[in-house]
Amino acid sequence: MLYKTIIEPFRIKSVEAIKFTTREEREDALKQAGYNVFLLHAEDVLIDLLTDSGTGAMSSAQWGGLMQGDESYAGSRSFYRFRDAVQEITGFAHVIPTHQGRAAERILFHTLLKPGQVVPNNTHFDTTRANIEVEGVEARDLVIPEGKVPSLLHPFKGNVDLAALERTLAEDGDRVPLVMVTVTNNSGGGQPVSLENIRGVRALCDRYHKPLFLDACRFAENAWFIKMREEGQGGKSPKQIAQEMFAMADGCTMSAKKDGLANIGGFLAMNDDALAAACRNLLILTEGFPTYGGLAGYDLEAIARGLEEVLEEPYLRYRIRSTEYLADKLVAGGVPIIRPAGGHAVYIDARGFLPDVPPLHYPGIAVCNALYVEGGVRAVEIGTVMFGLHPDGTETPGAMDLVRLAIPRRVYTQSHVDYVAEVVLETFRKRRELGGWRITEAPKVLRHFTARFSPLERPQR
Ligand SMILES: *Cc1c(COP(=O)(O)O)cnc(C)c1O
Repeated sequence: MLYKTIIEPFRIKSVEAIKFTTREEREDALKQAGYNVFLLHAEDVLIDLLTDSGTGAMSSAQWGGLMQGDESYAGSRSFYRFRDAVQEITGFAHVIPTHQGRAAERILFHTLLKPGQVVPNNTHFDTTRANIEVEGVEARDLVIPEGKVPSLLHPFKGNVDLAALERTLAEDGDRVPLVMVTVTNNSGGGQPVSLENIRGVRALCDRYHKPLFLDACRFAENAWFIKMREEGQGGKSPKQIAQEMFAMADGCTMSAKKDGLANIGGFLAMNDDALAAACRNLLILTEGFPTYGGLAGYDLEAIARGLEEVLEEPYLRYRIRSTEYLADKLVAGGVPIIRPAGGHAVYIDARGFLPDVPPLHYPGIAVCNALYVEGGVRAVEIGTVMFGLHPDGTETPGAMDLVRLAIPRRVYTQSHVDYVAEVVLETFRKRRELGGWRITEAPKVLRHFTARFSPLERPQR
């Protein structure tokens, strides 16, 4: 290629103004929110990197598709377009629409799991873990050791530790109803899983007669990493690679709010006829008829088109590079982050950022709150608040304390990202002023969404 600048592969047709606030206004807003950025009014956020989920910009083709939505209760034309788009990529016999990813998880797990069982995964996402634990089942994380060391470079840090999976299957095999692999590994830094690793998981599943389900939320980003990094894969299209990934699985759960490029939606897909029938029965009870599953016909249209656009090479090249661009700037400024950059997000290592704040004083919350006050940037803690509280009521440090800067798809430009880097670097410069936090109130499950915090006294230096 002649020019090295990778440009946004789109032009902007509709814009939304963002609101500028003063530091005092942000301090006040954060206090009102119980020092939990989830409880802020989004209007008071300048650059919102809380999540890449449902926050993307739809294309003009998707917006146009909305008008073609068929809102028939049963047998909607939009359902068949949606089903065909999912099957084209995944090949699964049964496609069950749901209102988002966690609904697919809840239906699959409630149908399949029994108390006392174990579900292995590279790293369970928060809703996945919660929907497994609520069934009285252990969610066991088996990512490779490299995946737990933020600074360590490895092309596929999301890979499953195959030896550990084999041990689980050998020792607890009769308690394992299915094996899951999350692509990319969101809670482990948005890191990809190689085709070779999925093949290894498949072989173990065959040996122990277990179904394999992908948590496929970012299947396209994972496919791009495989194309870029895995030996012998560079000549394939992202779609071919995605098809290969799905061909090794028996089913998947999916949030269309990620690589569906839609604002809402998801699906559960599988090959097993009896399991699909049982899942559809639960779907009818809680989500809706099997040809809409809690979505409008126009949502199904948007997802069908999004699943095609997300596999386009110019999009994926821009997407992965723009995340890496932010990571490069933070690394150059000495900020400790998970390396290499994830597909959808840059993850600050909050323990490295604030080595004097112990995990149970929530260094991730300290960094999140500081980024908001400093520059109106909203990030999210993925650490001890999110994962440290166990079903038996005990609290231990999470595997890592991370602050995720998730990049919404097709929303922010390079100058927005330059600004974010400046805010992070300035916060890093002032890091010695930051202290720990304690929780003043929180629910027992998924506490990070609604917990309230108060500052601990600053350590004396
Ligand atoms: C977002 C996500 C989910 C849950 O999807 P929702 O649409 O938010 O319910 C599950 N797994 C992973 C890896 C995710 O990123």
